[in-house]
Amino acid sequence: MHVLILGGTTEARRLAELLAGEAGTRVTSSLAGRVAAPRLPPGEVRVGGFGGAEGLAEWLREHHVDALIDATHPFAGTISFNAAAAAAATHVPLLALRRPGWVAGEGDDWHPVGSLAAAARLLPALGRRVFLTTGRMGLAAFAGPDPAAPWFLVRSVDAPEPPFPARMEVLLDRGPFTLDGERELLRRHRIDVVVTKDSGGVATAPKLAAAREAGVPVVVVQRPAEPEGITCVATPQAAAGWVRLLRD
Ligand code: NAP
Repeated sequence: MHVLILGGTTEARRLAELLAGEAGTRVTSSLAGRVAAPRLPPGEVRVGGFGGAEGLAEWLREHHVDALIDATHPFAGTISFNAAAAAAATHVPLLALRRPGWVAGEGDDWHPVGSLAAAARLLPALGRRVFLTTGRMGLAAFAGPDPAAPWFLVRSVDAPEPPFPARMEVLLDRGPFTLDGERELLRRHRIDVVVTKDSGGVATAPKLAAAREAGVPVVVVQRPAEPEGITCVATPQAAAGWVRLLRD
C-alpha cells in the first residue's frame, strides 16, 4: 500500500515514523520546500509543488498511491483544497490530520482576527513592542513606511526576505519552545503584545502561557476555511489507525 503524506508539520513527521517499517506499507512524505534544512521524516521524501490539483492527481495516478493524508499546517489552505480535488478526481481515499486549535482560558487576553492584515491594523491599539510568531511568509502585512509603527521581534525558522517591518529584530529558531524560554523572551525584549496564528499543538503553545502570566494581550489569527466533507482526525496515532484499517 502506497501512502502519500502531505507534510511540513510535526504531526506529519510523527505519522511517517509510526508507519515506517510496517509490513506492506510504502510511505512517501511530500514537503513544499519552504524550509532550507527541514527535519526529514523516515521513508521516501519528495520536495516541491505538484502543479495544482491536476498535478497532484497526476502524481497520485503515476505513483499508484492508495491513500492520501493531508497533514499540512492548518494555515496551508491551498494545498488542502488541492488534495480534496485530486482525491475526488482519482478516487484515492483522503484523510485530513489536523491538530485542534487553541482555546482561550482563564486570564487570557486574546484578540481574534481574520487575517494578518487585520492583525497589523489592530496592533497600534494594543502595544508598541510586538512578538510576531506568524512565520516569515506573511511579513509584508506588517511592513510599511509608517514612522509610528511598532517595533517587532520576528521569530522564524529561516531568515525573512523583504518586504518586512522597518523596525525589527529577527530571532532564528524553531520549536518546540519552553515556558521558561518564552517568559525570558517576553521579559528581555519588553514585549507588550504577541501575534500568533491559531496553529494549535503543544510545541509552540508556551508563548500563550507566558503572555497570560505577564498580562500581555495576544492577537490570534483565525484559521482559513477547510474543504468540506473530508474525514478529519487530530492525532498521528488516529491517522495511522485509518491507514491500517484500509490496508489490513
Ligand atoms: P499553501 O499556501 O497551502 O500551498 C501553496 C502551494 O505550495 C501549493 O499549491 C503547493 O504547490 C505547494 N505545497 C504546499 N504544501 C505542500 C506539500 N506538503 N507538498 C508539496 N507541495 C506543497 O501552503 P503554505 O502555507 O505555503 O505552506 C507550505 C508548507 O509549509 C505546507 O506543507 C505546510 O504544512 C508547511 N507549513 C505552513 C505553515 C503556515 O503557516 N502556512 C506553517 C508551518 C508549516 P502546487 O500547487 O504546485 O502543488
